[in-house]
Amino acid sequence: MAAQIISGKTLAAQVKERMTGETEALKRQGVTPCLAVVLVGDDPASAVYVRGKQKDCEECGIRSLLVRLPAEATQQQVLERLAALAADGAVHGILVQLPLPRHIDEQAVIAAIPPEKDVDGFTPVNVGRMVIGEECFLPCTPAGCIEMLKSTGQPLAGKHAVVIGRSNIVGKPAAILLLRENATVTVCHSRTQGLAQLCRSADILVAAVGRAGFVTGDMVKPGATVIDVGINRNAEGKLCGDVNFAAASEKAAFITPVPGGVGLMTRAMLLVNTVQAARMQAKA
Ligand code: NDP
Repeated sequence: MAAQIISGKTLAAQVKERMTGETEALKRQGVTPCLAVVLVGDDPASAVYVRGKQKDCEECGIRSLLVRLPAEATQQQVLERLAALAADGAVHGILVQLPLPRHIDEQAVIAAIPPEKDVDGFTPVNVGRMVIGEECFLPCTPAGCIEMLKSTGQPLAGKHAVVIGRSNIVGKPAAILLLRENATVTVCHSRTQGLAQLCRSADILVAAVGRAGFVTGDMVKPGATVIDVGINRNAEGKLCGDVNFAAASEKAAFITPVPGGVGLMTRAMLLVNTVQAARMQAKA
């Protein structure tokens, strides 16, 4: 039987509706949530992502501010802009669009975002808080994955979750959040041995590899929930995930599509964090 689709479109629309309501309530108290997006250089993919984030904000009544710097901007110039945004009381969330040009130290830039405005949840302070289970801004992609898993109504506690990928923005935090939900977590990466077998034992399989069709049907346990984080182009130039969707959906009970899956929830979780930042800073 074909798997049930976990629709990022439906779930993101619900989140957006909620955030629109919360933004209206904040505005009635004199607070307009504001997200500042810092874009350095002119990477076309980054520009598309930034436009998407701005459009989402607009739809929910959140103010968005685009701070553009040329590709040749120095690290010092980026840090100065961040300091100005950090000091601006009207700006509640700050996001630096990654990747940055090679001559800029990404970690140094991220660390310059005040934790209370770090709506991507990438600063060392927020990552640390997430690991020890304190309240913090959760990174948007893994937080979106957890929302998608919860939407199935299936308990996460005690389930074996296998995460393929260990990047700082997806794999590692996804593993931490699954652990926080009391799943038993295995993290796989390029040095993992017996990866297919590990995947076959997963009740929850999260693929964040960046390789089209990496997860084949025989790697999916019957009845599993498959979360496909990957965003790739296949040989025909079509957008696709890390999972062979047709084959995996024959085995899984629940599966996320690409497009229309995790990507949309990632965007929605940014709105949640921005509204939360505004609420916290306004103490509303
Ligand atoms: P990275 O390239 O930073 O990480 C990829 C991970 O996959 C690494 O940990 C790597 O292992 C692992 N990996 C690579 N090859 C293999 C292999 N053969 N076997 C097992 N593991 C392997 O990517 P990201 O985490 O940033 O992104 C992953 C995917 O998710 C990409 O397609 C990206 O576009 C997408 N993405 C989607 C988002 C969304 O909103 N839907 C948001 C962010 C990313 P090792 O550490 O050993 O090198």
